[in-house]
Amino acid sequence: MLRQTRSVFQKLRCLRGQQRTWRLKSTSATEAALQYQPGQKVHGFTVREVVAVPDLFLTAVKLTHDKTGAQYLHAARDDSNNLFSVQFRTTPMDSTGVPHILEHTVLCGSEKYPCRDPFFKMLNRSLSTFMNAFTASDYTMYPFSTQNAKDFQNLLSVYLDAVFFPCLREQDFWQEGWRLENENPTDPSSPLVFKGVVFNEMKGAFSDSERLYAQHLQNKLHPDHTYSVVSGGEPLAIPDLTWEQLKQFHATHYHPSNARFFTYGDLPLENHLKQIQEEALSRFDRIDPNTEVPSQPHWTSPREDHVTCCPDALSPDPTKQNTLCVSYLLGDITDTFEGFTLSLLSSLMISGPNSPFYKSLIEPKIGTDFSSVVGYDGSTKEASFSIGLQGIAEEDTERVKEIINQTISDIIENGFEEERIEALLHKLEIQIKHQSTNFGLSLASYIASSWNHDGDPVELLRISESVAKFRQALKENPRFLQDKVKHYFKENTHRLTLSMSPEDAYLEKQAKAEEEKLHKKIEVLSDSDRKEIYEKGLELLAAQSKTQDASCLPALRVSDIEPTIPITPLEMSLTGGVPVQYCEQPTNGLVYFRAMCSLNSLPDNLKPYVPLFCSVITKMGCGDLDYRQQAQQMELRTGGMSVSTQVIPDSTQLDTFEQGILLSSSCLERNLPHMFELWSEIFNRPHFNDEERLRVLVMSSAQELANGISHSGHMYAMIRAGRHLTAAGDLQETFGGMEQVKFMKRIAEMSDLTQVIRTLPRIKKHLLNPASMRCAVNATPQKMSDAEAQLESFLKDVAANRKEHKRVREDIISKPLDPQDASGGSRNLVSEQHFQPCQMKTYFEMPFPVNFVSETVRTVPFSHQDYASLCILARMMTAKFLHGEIREKGGAYGGGARMGGVGLFYFYSYRDPNSVQTLSAFHKGVDWAKSGCFTQQDIDEAKLSIFSTVDSPVAPADKGMLSFLSGITDEMKQSHRQRLFAVSHKQLVEVAERYFTVGQKMFGVTILGPENETIKKDPSWLVL
Ligand SMILES: [Zn+2]
Repeated sequence: MLRQTRSVFQKLRCLRGQQRTWRLKSTSATEAALQYQPGQKVHGFTVREVVAVPDLFLTAVKLTHDKTGAQYLHAARDDSNNLFSVQFRTTPMDSTGVPHILEHTVLCGSEKYPCRDPFFKMLNRSLSTFMNAFTASDYTMYPFSTQNAKDFQNLLSVYLDAVFFPCLREQDFWQEGWRLENENPTDPSSPLVFKGVVFNEMKGAFSDSERLYAQHLQNKLHPDHTYSVVSGGEPLAIPDLTWEQLKQFHATHYHPSNARFFTYGDLPLENHLKQIQEEALSRFDRIDPNTEVPSQPHWTSPREDHVTCCPDALSPDPTKQNTLCVSYLLGDITDTFEGFTLSLLSSLMISGPNSPFYKSLIEPKIGTDFSSVVGYDGSTKEASFSIGLQGIAEEDTERVKEIINQTISDIIENGFEEERIEALLHKLEIQIKHQSTNFGLSLASYIASSWNHDGDPVELLRISESVAKFRQALKENPRFLQDKVKHYFKENTHRLTLSMSPEDAYLEKQAKAEEEKLHKKIEVLSDSDRKEIYEKGLELLAAQSKTQDASCLPALRVSDIEPTIPITPLEMSLTGGVPVQYCEQPTNGLVYFRAMCSLNSLPDNLKPYVPLFCSVITKMGCGDLDYRQQAQQMELRTGGMSVSTQVIPDSTQLDTFEQGILLSSSCLERNLPHMFELWSEIFNRPHFNDEERLRVLVMSSAQELANGISHSGHMYAMIRAGRHLTAAGDLQETFGGMEQVKFMKRIAEMSDLTQVIRTLPRIKKHLLNPASMRCAVNATPQKMSDAEAQLESFLKDVAANRKEHKRVREDIISKPLDPQDASGGSRNLVSEQHFQPCQMKTYFEMPFPVNFVSETVRTVPFSHQDYASLCILARMMTAKFLHGEIREKGGAYGGGARMGGVGLFYFYSYRDPNSVQTLSAFHKGVDWAKSGCFTQQDIDEAKLSIFSTVDSPVAPADKGMLSFLSGITDEMKQSHRQRLFAVSHKQLVEVAERYFTVGQKMFGVTILGPENETIKKDPSWLVL
């Protein structure tokens, strides 16, 4: 084989080499942390324990704060993506959403940083790789991560001040929690309505039936303490919360004595401790927070309950919309080994087509899929296990209960095959070795629940000890798992059977309940109360409209951003006649394989089936393996094998794009031959004929798509709005838009799938074809030539599939994969140079009470000189204008603007009480940009924010992928970087005028939302 390395990389690689030598000389973070001694005092803390965790390449240091009792865990690891998190045990006893509203309100300004919304402002003054806050059922967590040491200090200062010394102004409570306000705040005669960010967020959240069901299940399985209430807030209970109660909850829960700090990464622990002590903890004394959650008293007999939800117009079969599930209360999660065992047991019971519950519940096709809550859940003090189905007919509910009981008895009788247990432990090994970019955040969430109830977080990290103990337990008692099933399921009287069914008048009833609540609040108001409400509304509006002085906040400068990017060395070569990209990476003993297969010869009428083809091709069986055996082999030998659709825009021409599917898989180095053998069988002898199997897969895909709309509605709106704007837009809608949702619903409703079964092999012939394929391998340098040899033999095995198909279209152009070398293979792109965009306004009537709004504008591709300006413009418009209009004033959960790689500029809103008003907010945003009323500071902040995305860490598995898929090389990325740095005030005003002027701009609009009278009357809208 022939490998070529571009000369430009040779030079840059030397630089990298130097860096590496320098790094090796300094002591690594893990070694440095091993120097701490138990009992040692550091900045007000005492070291309790120092433990090396070689599995995860880290050293854990556990400390407590002397004066307050605050707990601290540091995980030292040679990873520059450092993380901080602080979590408080927040255990509400009512459903007013007090912990959730508090989570929002502490981010509205603090003692040292009194400006409004420092959190959102820091997004633009930092290079953070992650910033957020979460409210769980029993804790609230504030994490951030960054690769820059100065930035870490800045963010830590803002976070500490926010949680320990927030302003908690009454106005913040109104804005974030709830308030009564005139519908139009400037018109005192307009009706009074409820407003507030959390109020709307929770209305949106509970319009999702899956979320609603999960909430009911938790509340009813743990009925005696904090888990019986809604920590996020029950929309109609939120207006019972007062500002005083909020402040009280803060004083008792956000205290160091009730806090757990976690830091992760390669920055020195000592600096973190010093800053935390000086800026926060030294100002507190110890209290007894009294936030422990008592154990749930066990029931002496099982219980049953029933709830209702909104009917789902998109569900595959409208007569089958019931959910039923049985939930069992298990043991305390602080028992680490028991929790480990039960979560493995849960996977054995429900994961994959070989599991007993998949066989007994999914395959008979009684429902569309498992219930939204399924398996082991360790997020409450006592864990639970749930099993059930969604999408079932009412008359089948008894049958489902019987099957669940019977399956449990069968498991106790028969146990599990040894090979399945091995497959599961193999999966765990891969998960531990796989290098993710947000490892610190994963660790923080992994330990959060158990630690919250005083479990030992270090014990949780020592996973291989649990694995060894598990193997030992199985060896000593072959019925170890069966005994657990008997104890926790068969003999457990603390179990709840919860069913949910749709109710036609559900939305109506909810609206009526809200009206009644509103009426009760309003009827007691005097004239002077009303006057006060009106005035407060105006005050809030004025405060929201005032230009903000954020100068109190710390900030990085544009000059702190690295001027150049590190180069990823890639090598292109032809292996077995197929172009292959090789990328050497520290992958921890894993090999990552991808293949991109072109769609260019596929007839247009088959295209809607491609997503279905992708989701079933690795799940129907192949060669001598039926689908169960195939699934078993995939679990035993690989880290997963999947296929997805790809519509990839060209970086230089707007109406040029590549269409294809991407095959992805990974495996441990020792399993390379097995992984490629599985792919060979999929190429050579895939199974398509099992109609029963296909129906199961079709139903679960259709259900998944229908369920996804209520949480990704803005994505569907954006894709649809761009449908007629570029040549690729229509295919994007076909593959991943509302059209695909409707298409899959139709397929799921077909009584006979013969026609689909005949279609899949035709698609396979066009797509799994080495003649129009390219591959990529990421592996360690030591393993690369082995990987290459294995790939070569795979390509030999599938050579018979090589066919030169006639292209269906004439407008195909070729681009070399390696711009320096045209002989190494090419990408074949569709190029519609005469494409005519057209404007459409589409409204989808949906069964939810909130809207998802998008206006999408046709602009320019990645390499165009205006592209960088449009990226900065989108970011700046979001932070400086749209956020205030759409979220703060409009009450939507989110909204803004974003420049997309497909050459489209998107405006969008998320879970939005407004529809047409939001469209006019978008237009006002454009006017604001054109007016040029923004400062250099605003531009610099937008640049920082954009660079924190551009420079976000890339995992070893994904290095080189942008180049492989889109042909965007490191040189092109570097030019884009330089253009971003150079964007000026003048350019921003110019692009706003050039692309967004009415009459000139080419745009599409889409809204997903409830029935809307204004739009129905407007003939310019297409209502679906
Ligand atoms: Zn929230």
